[in-house]
Amino acid sequence: MRDLDLRLSHVRKSYDRPVLQDINLCVRNDSYVTILGSSGSGKSTLMNILGLVESHDGGEYSFNGTLIRAGVDYPKLRLHDIGFIFQSYNLIPTLSCKENILLPCMYEDGGDSRNFDRLISLLKIEHLLSQRVVTLSGGEKQRVAVARALILDPCLILADEPTGNLDPANREIIISLLRHEHQQGRGIILITHDEQTAKAADTVLRLEGGFLHES
Ligand code: ADP
Ligand code: MG
Repeated sequence: MRDLDLRLSHVRKSYDRPVLQDINLCVRNDSYVTILGSSGSGKSTLMNILGLVESHDGGEYSFNGTLIRAGVDYPKLRLHDIGFIFQSYNLIPTLSCKENILLPCMYEDGGDSRNFDRLISLLKIEHLLSQRVVTLSGGEKQRVAVARALILDPCLILADEPTGNLDPANREIIISLLRHEHQQGRGIILITHDEQTAKAADTVLRLEGGFLHES
């Protein structure tokens, strides 16, 4: 796994109004950061900027030594260094669970499934591999989505309300897996509505009025 060195300095982002005004954040392999904030406060916007799927308007964002620029795509960084987990899973419904998990490997020369056995055992999804995604419960879908996010051994996990649609038992599985992956040396940024879920982190930040505050 690569070293993680993520730095945001005075980052801004506006749509028709300013959403992020002055965001400063450093994240390393040993960071586990939770971001709390009300609906519409810009949490997903911040996550999308961090995940290199949206660009910022101003300030500096540096990811593992690369200065991130507006209008430039960073597919290699996104594929290899970042594992994204969403509230709504974002699996491909027409593929099986196994095909979904191995999808990121298709973009790799020769593929890389070293992690596969470890992940399906940790997430207890061995019995689901040949099933199509439409036949799964929400908790099963999220466990498959987490395996897909981690298959290429990313140094950073971005989780945008990953437990928002889950029952308590599956919430616990996802949160303890994130804790475990953090102990393996992955940096984690977790967005949640839930103060209880936020307590899993070492650092709790609150996004309010376009600024990040220590909570
Ligand atoms: P949160 O995830 O905290 O609920 P979002 O980051 O999704 O908040 O949205 C923050 C604000 O930015 C909202 O007012 C939303 O409508 C607006 N917004 C988000 N994405 C876009 C977009 N692509 N175009 C225009 N406005 C957007
Ligand atoms: Mg959101």
